Amino acid sequence: MKKQSSLSRLMTYAGAHKYLIYASWLLSALSAFMALVPFWYIWRILQEVLRVAPDFARAEFLAAYGWAAVGFAVLSVLIYIAGLMCSHLSAFRIASNLRKETLRHIVQLPLGEAERFGSGKLRKIVDESSAATETYLAHQLPDMAGSIATPIGLLVLLLVFDWRLGLLCLIPVALGFACMMLMTGSGMRAKMTEYQNALADMSNQAVEYVRGVPVVKTFGQTVFSFKKFKGAIDNYKTWVIAYTKQLRLPMMFYTAAINSAFAFLVAAAFLFTAEGVTDQFLLNLLFYIIITPVISTTLTKIMFQSENTMIMEDALARIDSVLSLAPLPQAAHPKMPADGSVEVDDVSFSYDGKTDVLHHISLRIEPGQTAALVGPSGGGKSTLANLIARFFDPRSGAIRIGGVDLRDIGKETLMDTVSYVFQDSRLIKGSILDNVRLARPESSEAQVLEALQKAQCMDIIEKFPNGIHTVLGTKGVYLSGGEQQRVAIARAMLKDSPVVILDEATAFADPDNEAKVQAAFHALAKNKTVLMIAHRLSTVMNADCIFVVQNGAIVECGTSRALLEQEGVFAKMWRDYQASVQWKVEVSR
Ligand code: ADP
Repeated sequence: MKKQSSLSRLMTYAGAHKYLIYASWLLSALSAFMALVPFWYIWRILQEVLRVAPDFARAEFLAAYGWAAVGFAVLSVLIYIAGLMCSHLSAFRIASNLRKETLRHIVQLPLGEAERFGSGKLRKIVDESSAATETYLAHQLPDMAGSIATPIGLLVLLLVFDWRLGLLCLIPVALGFACMMLMTGSGMRAKMTEYQNALADMSNQAVEYVRGVPVVKTFGQTVFSFKKFKGAIDNYKTWVIAYTKQLRLPMMFYTAAINSAFAFLVAAAFLFTAEGVTDQFLLNLLFYIIITPVISTTLTKIMFQSENTMIMEDALARIDSVLSLAPLPQAAHPKMPADGSVEVDDVSFSYDGKTDVLHHISLRIEPGQTAALVGPSGGGKSTLANLIARFFDPRSGAIRIGGVDLRDIGKETLMDTVSYVFQDSRLIKGSILDNVRLARPESSEAQVLEALQKAQCMDIIEKFPNGIHTVLGTKGVYLSGGEQQRVAIARAMLKDSPVVILDEATAFADPDNEAKVQAAFHALAKNKTVLMIAHRLSTVMNADCIFVVQNGAIVECGTSRALLEQEGVFAKMWRDYQASVQWKVEVSR
């Protein structure tokens, strides 16, 4: 199948506005031709002046030619504006359709996939890449039509008066083209992609960095987060300097070449007039000298055209990188889970399609039970929890809730069945009420308050004069990590789903916060099936079942008492944990 060109792809988003795009090209080309007509009048004026010289009073048509030149110049501008109006109307439509389609697609993606992409990068793609296509369609394409029309008109003008001088003017054009090819060849295309990548990376890191500031403050991760961001900036800087240096020489020659038509003309004039100068030759020479600046501006426009096309193609490729991600398949005949049991049945999973990070995991949590996942960092706890919330589908095996495979549960039902409280819960910029209400938009203020109360959030609300209506993210409103997590718990509380996944925070700023979060967790867990990713062993001792996850497999399971008696991995972890707590107590004395 022939690859669809970027332009025809964009056109598919235009709908009926397609014809406006074509009209804008026509108008722009017409305007370019009109812009050349004044030069012809200038030539007529020169001719008239030379004819009557030195008795200038005899010149009759100077004013008429002058006004005609002005008239055509104005006409050209008016036609150009009309063309731009057409192109803008359609470009905005295309960009907005493109944005809508990308957003629609993002909503259907597996949540984990969107998370992996990074929200900064996704935002940039939806926002900036579609804006790039808009600039291209609204300005650059009509200008391209103009910059194709101008050389054609120019060529006719150049060769019609004195073909020898005309050909001479083409020499710098050829030289300019050669330099341009050097600058926009296939090597440069690859560089442009690299450049856009470095830029995207920097923007992504910046967003993640700013978003992470509260976490950085709470957990003192300054050096780590800063390193990534600084690395991206340094990378960009090195890249840009190298790129600019590489372009310096060809750009210099290019500028010299396209502006040198003048020099060729003057040298030729000496040669051609060795045996005496005629009025006609003088007239033509003057005309060519007047028109040469048009050559350089036209060439420069053409040069930026190819750069602009590259930018647009790169933008489309970025949008495609999102559109090409496969959406999460939805069940044709959705089923309802019978209860809140969770069953993982021989599940293997890999992020990259090559190495498995989970190997044949099986477990079962009965309705209403609390299960905990413990084990070394990187063992696969979060991955397993993400699979249960269907952030991804397993590579093999099945996960069932209430006896139904997750893939057979409708999207909405699944969202009502499983809620997830993340370690770094993301709150939106809105009031506390709005943030909690996200879980169930139809709930009343009283219901939200009840949820906040159960999630130990009353102290947060009392802290602010606007209470539940305090808008998070505004000046002076700051929630610590623990407070944010409590608001997130209130959200899950309001949702009241039968299955809850809790990702316990690794550290807390103060013990009071920690106690409140624990109490909130406890209240949330009541009458629900809970899967907790535990980072500190003290919180799992009362769990109905503990699963020890190591290297992507469950190595032990049972109650804490049974596991301690077993003298295995968990017992060792427990001893290490106690020693570290002991050590902390001694240090703080
Ligand atoms: P834990 O929660 O126990 O710390 P994870 O589930 O986060 O462990 O990680 C398990 C393994 O999967 C690790 O080797 C980790 O590097 C890898 N991993 C985690 N998230 C991703 C991801 N988004 N893409 C690729 N690999 C990942």
